[in-house]
Amino acid sequence: LSDRLALTFKNLKRKGTVTESDLNATIRDIRMALLDADVALPVVKEFTGAVRERGLGAEVHQALNPAQQIVKIVNEELVSILGGQTRRITLAKTPPTVIMLAGLQGSGKTTFAGKLGRWLADQGHTPLLVAADLQRPNAVTQLEVVGQRAGVAVFAPERGNVFGHDAALESGEGTRSFGDPVDVAVDGVEDARRKGHDVVIIDTAGRLAVDVNLMRQAHDIRLETNAHEVLFVIDAMIGQAAVETAKAFADGVGITGSVLTKLDGDARGGAALSVATVTGQPIMFASTGEGVKDIELFHPDRMASRILDMGDVLTLIEQAEKAFDRVQAQEMTRKFLSEEDFTFDDFLEQMSAIKRMGSLKQMLGMMPGMQQMRAQLDSLDEKEFDRVEAMVRSMTPFERNHPKQINGSRRARIARGSGVSVSEVNQLLERFAEAQKMMRQLKKGGMPGMPGMPGM
Ligand code: GDP
Ligand code: MG
Repeated sequence: LSDRLALTFKNLKRKGTVTESDLNATIRDIRMALLDADVALPVVKEFTGAVRERGLGAEVHQALNPAQQIVKIVNEELVSILGGQTRRITLAKTPPTVIMLAGLQGSGKTTFAGKLGRWLADQGHTPLLVAADLQRPNAVTQLEVVGQRAGVAVFAPERGNVFGHDAALESGEGTRSFGDPVDVAVDGVEDARRKGHDVVIIDTAGRLAVDVNLMRQAHDIRLETNAHEVLFVIDAMIGQAAVETAKAFADGVGITGSVLTKLDGDARGGAALSVATVTGQPIMFASTGEGVKDIELFHPDRMASRILDMGDVLTLIEQAEKAFDRVQAQEMTRKFLSEEDFTFDDFLEQMSAIKRMGSLKQMLGMMPGMQQMRAQLDSLDEKEFDRVEAMVRSMTPFERNHPKQINGSRRARIARGSGVSVSEVNQLLERFAEAQKMMRQLKKGGMPGMPGMPGM
């Protein structure tokens, strides 16, 4: 998917401003990337529409140039469509909380029932798994095995009731049936109430493709058990078919959230975007393997980067945001506009801000107002940077705010404290005095915007 997109973002990053045609080109690339990631076309259209609108609106962000803002918008829109915050199971005021699982056959419902049971039990709940998949003769046994492995109780229907005409018999798969899945589900909830289980997880039947009877059955189970949560379980590898399937379950059964399974495979996560968009409900869990512990809360932000595979770009943006948050930028501007002299404390603050951003030169291009500094910094290696910082850190607070008072004996102490020679301290102080002077002149000239980095 993403080589192409990475290149787009890289090119975009080099630009200072973004024209409308840049925006259109970028959106075209994002469209390709999303389609590559198996996001369904209608979803892609809706998504790129939203990005375009915001991109044209060009929100102003302190630490980012317009190009990065587009990257940021793309990411934010993705996260928001994927549900924004991670949503957790809503527990019923009067237990038991009834959670029903629905989805196609093979999507991972039974496996997930065990995982969710274990996960809830680890949090102090006393879940009961209910085997309401009576479609396949061995489904009940499978849930019993899963429950045993997870250490979670299972409610299974009475065995041995032979009915003549059910799907299992017709397909020649088996010879027994356990009766009506809706009844079993209701009995299961009743059993939980009686035995004091506070959560019920109902495993239901699936078909290989969307099926009207199956939908009706799932719908009835939902109504008859008053299910609080209906989780739509979907295989992340399903690709383009995700939209149709998710829509069928959302319309036919009614769901409150989704579970994305088999994310341990090489699924690119496009299904997540399709499912979240089509159902309008958040994805709540990710299933990442066949083991009972392979369950995670779903994190929209992580999935967003998986879809766009632009982790490094996002990291850069995060770093830039962290280092130059608005408050700090405002404080620097205030200081710059005030009569106060620039001190070593200010200097230290700016230095640690830049350090937090990791690779210096790479980052400087990202900050408005810092481009001029780049030439100066190109000649400065990072080791020297560390030495300067060590010297400043060896100064007392008084010295940092009154550089002119740093006499010979103070200089000697600073040199010893930071492991440099006295002449290096002298040099720093000289350069700093020059920088202060320059700052005063700049201020008189009334230059707006952010201050540069004096002393370098
Ligand atoms: P159900 O028909 O919806 O109940 O699906 P199952 O729970 O029986 O799962 C179908 C198959 O997918 C089984 O072989 C599971 O072991 C496998 N499976 C389920 N969840 C995951 C997962 O998160 N990762 C992987 N790799 N396999 C899974
Ligand atoms: Mg099953």
